[in-house]
Amino acid sequence: MKKICSCLLVGLMALSLAACSSKPATATIKDGTYAGEGTGKNDKIAVEVTFKDSVIAGIEVTSEKETPGFAEAMDQLTKTMMAENKIEVDIIAGATYTSDGFIEAVKDAFNKTGATLDQLIAKGNSESEERESSYTADVVVIGAGGAGLSAAITAAEAGAKVIVIEKMAMVGGNTLISGAEMAAPNNWLQTSENIEDSNDQFYQDIMKGGDNESDPELARILADSSLAGAEWLRDDVNVIFEDYMLFFGGHSVKRSLVPLNASGVELVGKLEAKAKSLGVEIHTNTPAIELLQENGEVNAVKANFNGKEVTYNANNGVILATGGFGSNLDMRIKYNEAMDEKILSTNTVGSTGDGITMAEKINAQLVDMPFIQTYPTCDPERGTLLYVGDVRLDGRSILVNLEGKRFVEELERRDVISSAVVSQTGGVSYMFWDEASMIASKVNVKHKAEYDNLIERGLLVKANTLKEAADFFGINAEELQKTVDNYNTYAANGKDLEFNKRGELTAFTDGPYYIMKSIPAIHHTMGGVKINTEAQVMDVDGNIIKGLYAAGEVTGDIHGTNRLGSDAIADIVVFGRIAGKNAAEAK
Ligand code: ADP
Repeated sequence: MKKICSCLLVGLMALSLAACSSKPATATIKDGTYAGEGTGKNDKIAVEVTFKDSVIAGIEVTSEKETPGFAEAMDQLTKTMMAENKIEVDIIAGATYTSDGFIEAVKDAFNKTGATLDQLIAKGNSESEERESSYTADVVVIGAGGAGLSAAITAAEAGAKVIVIEKMAMVGGNTLISGAEMAAPNNWLQTSENIEDSNDQFYQDIMKGGDNESDPELARILADSSLAGAEWLRDDVNVIFEDYMLFFGGHSVKRSLVPLNASGVELVGKLEAKAKSLGVEIHTNTPAIELLQENGEVNAVKANFNGKEVTYNANNGVILATGGFGSNLDMRIKYNEAMDEKILSTNTVGSTGDGITMAEKINAQLVDMPFIQTYPTCDPERGTLLYVGDVRLDGRSILVNLEGKRFVEELERRDVISSAVVSQTGGVSYMFWDEASMIASKVNVKHKAEYDNLIERGLLVKANTLKEAADFFGINAEELQKTVDNYNTYAANGKDLEFNKRGELTAFTDGPYYIMKSIPAIHHTMGGVKINTEAQVMDVDGNIIKGLYAAGEVTGDIHGTNRLGSDAIADIVVFGRIAGKNAAEAK
């Protein structure tokens, strides 16, 4: 027995030696173009990868249905893979599923070469030489989300030389992955729909929606300047708005403008293009790590680029636009222990509160830090925002529990709906609507890829009868039928006797019927650095920190305990522009 074994062993060793000698370490990968496939966020991603002399010579995406704008993530990954001649590269933050699917597709293509990954000739990181050790601008903006880009454009329009530093590989932050709807009282669509509104009414809604915890002066500026901000986006930045509005929870009237495709991609894409057209430099992959001061004035930012320290000197001022801290678990728990790891988040991984931490180190005042908002109807497996759920904001769906009963006003504030959902069976809600509502809202067309994906993952069902739809999720169908009948009576009489739902009530009619399962996930952190009406950051004693401005989710005291939907875009544009203008004109 022993002998047979050792013979076998010798034979195997000889075989493996033979195998090794036929493929020496320097063996080249067989030239050619190979097809590969991976699973992205919405569907399969197919690629064709060309190898020449053991180098990735080209990557072509032949089919994909990713959310528009996320193709940029695949472009970035392609660049990195080709620059470094490497397939296992870091994913693009904020585009996790697209990145994973793309990398899987390229790997699948590579596997068809029969080679091993170490046969790709190492090139190292080609980007590391591209940064100087210091730069100087009039205005340095930290963070290339909506607030940072709005500030950068405004500063550049005022004649300043502007550099934006962004820690991620791509610009956009949470703004990019949002629907980017923007509340704007007295807007052009309200006029054509004869909806009466006023700045005062918007102001009242902001204050009430945040339990009167907002700084009244900041809320007033937001209410008074939002329309001008929207017009600036439309006329100066060339953002295309759809010809309909959405009715966000907690607002007293329908006033929220919707950018093309109800997507942050339109907003961020246009802001980035405008900024670049004005000569604004955007340095990605460059996290800011420290605010530097001279005689109490912030005049530079220390940043990091691939492990190398880079200093950005600012002649006039620095603008913090680093967003919130929804992706920073420690920070969430530190300020609000209920916001623990059990709660998923809609946020990009870049939202780690860096700006707040850096500002706190130089004595900035922090306000409202415990106020963390969850978005009530997110993907139960991923925590991402679900745009198919916008049918709710059209006023054309109801939320029910497993028992088939409504439990909250569907257009209530996000925090109210979220906490109502959490106390239902399983902590989930089910959104119900009919075919007429689907046709009216078109969410299956506008968000087709997401729609298909939710159906595929069993989180959304379309069924001919209400019972069939209810049974799919184990919802009590009899009760659901009663709920729908009651709702239809309320619609006929024009008053919701159970929850007093605002807006127009539309009765449900024929099938097919739709039910979507969702959960609340962390969405917006209301707390942050305290600013004055000029977007200057205040210190713990209430004095201005010279040279430091802030705008967007990094700031606090604007939305009180709870931000109303579509007020964030108004906020980033209004205060981004104030910060940009003031920093540019500081000297
Ligand atoms: P807002 O809506 O306030 O503009 P976003 O989340 O859209 O917020 O954008 C904030 C941006 O700031 C994101 O792109 C994020 O990656 C970036 N950011 C966060 N921390 C840093 C940092 N330390 N250095 C540079 N950029 C940062």
